[in-house]
Amino acid sequence: MRRKLAAGNWKMNGTAADLAELEAMKAAAATKQTDVLIGTPATLISRAVATAGDAIAIGGQDCHTNASGAHTGDISASMLADAGASHVITGHSERRVDHGETDAIVAAKSEAGYANDLTAVICIGESLEEREAGQTLDVIGTQLAGSTPAAATGANTVIAYEPVWAIGTGKVPTLEQIAEVHDFMRSQLVERFGEDGNAFRLLYGGSVKPSNANEIFAVSNVDGALVGGASLKASDFNAIITALDEA
Ligand code: PEP
Repeated sequence: MRRKLAAGNWKMNGTAADLAELEAMKAAAATKQTDVLIGTPATLISRAVATAGDAIAIGGQDCHTNASGAHTGDISASMLADAGASHVITGHSERRVDHGETDAIVAAKSEAGYANDLTAVICIGESLEEREAGQTLDVIGTQLAGSTPAAATGANTVIAYEPVWAIGTGKVPTLEQIAEVHDFMRSQLVERFGEDGNAFRLLYGGSVKPSNANEIFAVSNVDGALVGGASLKASDFNAIITALDEA
């Protein structure tokens, strides 16, 4: 049985004042079986860990491929771990687009995470042009294979399917489209990793809200969500955690 995971991505949002939201999420998460993770800005990780305690895991949103060195402004996986993070999000489409990250870079960042006992939350997803051209499964297959290291296991890796056109837009794929991609990812993982492919948790991400969470969580091979905007406020995110817990 895969444990459910409600993951939030605060992106470039959040200062000390927002720890009050985390505190309110902690109260809800503590009563649920569902695992909860928040990817905070790096500046908040250590304070978020102190606030969240054992109820919510805290992750970074990116890491460098190298352990240390002359990379001004970057953060290594060991620094995330040192700050108390247990996870790192890799390959978010905003990183791929804004910073030119390739599948190979995403795989290397995920490996850097493993080397520091961080669980990698590897993001993949097609653009609108790719979907409209009927290339979705080809793109997902290529990104999944290229971004997931050989050392990935169901224990150290979570895969997030995030159609680029659904992120922050309010647009959501149909439930059939989500099921098609999630079933495909599962079959690809089993083909590559054998029985352990069934242990990877598969998250859907892209405009998940309290109003659509129930139906998304009922979809085959959806083990949870990666949530951007609706993870910033406890009133929204707690409703998503509850929906997942009851799914
Ligand atoms: C995300 O950025 O990972 C995301 C899914 O954002 P949103 O929920 O705001 O669409």
